[in-house]
Amino acid sequence: MKLIKAMRGTRDIYDVESLKFNFIEDAAKELLENYGYGRIITPTFESTDLFKRGIGEGTDIVDKEMYTFSDRGDRSITLRPEGTAPVVRSYLENKTYAKEDLTKYYYINNMFRYERPQAGRYREFYQIGVEILGNGSPMADAEVISMGYRLMEKLGIEDLKVNINSVGGNETRAKYRELLVNYLTPKKDGLCTDCQNRYETNPLRVLDCKNKGCQELTVDAPMLPDNLNAKEKNHYETVKKYLDMFGVEYVENPRLVRGLDYYSSTVFEVTTEKLGSQGTVLGGGRYDNLIKQIGDKEVSAVGFGSGVDRLMMLLAEDKVSNTPDVYVSWLGEENIDYAFLVANTLRDNGVKVYIEYAPKSANAHRKKAFKLGAKREILIDSKSKANKTLGLKELSSRDVEVVNFDELLGKIK
Ligand code: ATP
Ligand code: MG
Repeated sequence: MKLIKAMRGTRDIYDVESLKFNFIEDAAKELLENYGYGRIITPTFESTDLFKRGIGEGTDIVDKEMYTFSDRGDRSITLRPEGTAPVVRSYLENKTYAKEDLTKYYYINNMFRYERPQAGRYREFYQIGVEILGNGSPMADAEVISMGYRLMEKLGIEDLKVNINSVGGNETRAKYRELLVNYLTPKKDGLCTDCQNRYETNPLRVLDCKNKGCQELTVDAPMLPDNLNAKEKNHYETVKKYLDMFGVEYVENPRLVRGLDYYSSTVFEVTTEKLGSQGTVLGGGRYDNLIKQIGDKEVSAVGFGSGVDRLMMLLAEDKVSNTPDVYVSWLGEENIDYAFLVANTLRDNGVKVYIEYAPKSANAHRKKAFKLGAKREILIDSKSKANKTLGLKELSSRDVEVVNFDELLGKIK
């Protein structure tokens, strides 16, 4: 029979990879809850219109990357490609804005994008994201950026660069767009084919093209931060003031615009050199336009999304382990029940225990215990049950102590 394989761009996460996943998820939950954020779990699929309206036609996600299909009731549904539009949909649908004037959510969800799979780029991937809804203060921007920074610190991931920029409000961007188009027009033919398209659809994106030719061609382009109005400048300066206060190291990158149209004001990205062209591990910004786009309401918001798969690639393996405290080895089939009882009694008391079900030689047990990285081995043989004594062996020194069952817990904990 032909072997059925996982779909292209998807993968199973197990062994050390799932330990890394858990480690990142646990660290994120602890940190984000510490900052007062509540978890939100939105559905895996939504109406296609939500993403068309929220992310916008003309973006890579909507034009090329969505998993869209009709269900059996002929509704057009889409597997979520990102987390922000669903959170906004929930916020509007549940009238959360009427119940509280400030909402802080985090999510840890799988996302789906039809992309060419490569290292750090999958068709199903995972994101940790945060959203603050209902407030336009620069404090919110600074809080979100510094949380992202602290998350990286907590994971022990180094050599990361935090890039920040301000893309201003709609009016500023419209004026700047004109300035930029005027600047680009005589140079248009020298741009890469992608940028020639961007020139038509979203000229700001020409600035953060990775292509060397395009970068050289635009060295003296007018930059957005130089064109901010006084209020926008002040907002940006205040964000930076707080970042400095919190010890967040960042660089100002006037070329950073981010892919999605709904951003306004502050935008930021955390990047690494270690993952080739998949170097962005976290991206976000203020999106004061999005809620109007989706639900015709003026609500300020800011957030980030961070790629768990890429964080997993950067996380050191020695950060994670799941080794048992104790390996219970037993000899003689007549002793299995007693060994099983000992194992479960220890587990009930919070000790991490590993036990095998099939008979093995003493040597095979010892090998397995080493392989699993157990600290100790408990030796059970025919005398154990009758005498209520067990052998407790330190695997590092190989010293064996004979202990009473009743003292066992005290010795182990
Ligand atoms: P990229 O430029 O790498 O395509 P993006 O701008 O499309 O990223 P966002 O939509 O901002 O990414 O998503 C936030 C984060 O999610 C990214 O910084 C990245 O870490 C992660 N991410 C995005 N697409 C994928 C994918 N296909 N596979 C794995 N991680 C991804
Ligand atoms: Mg992308």
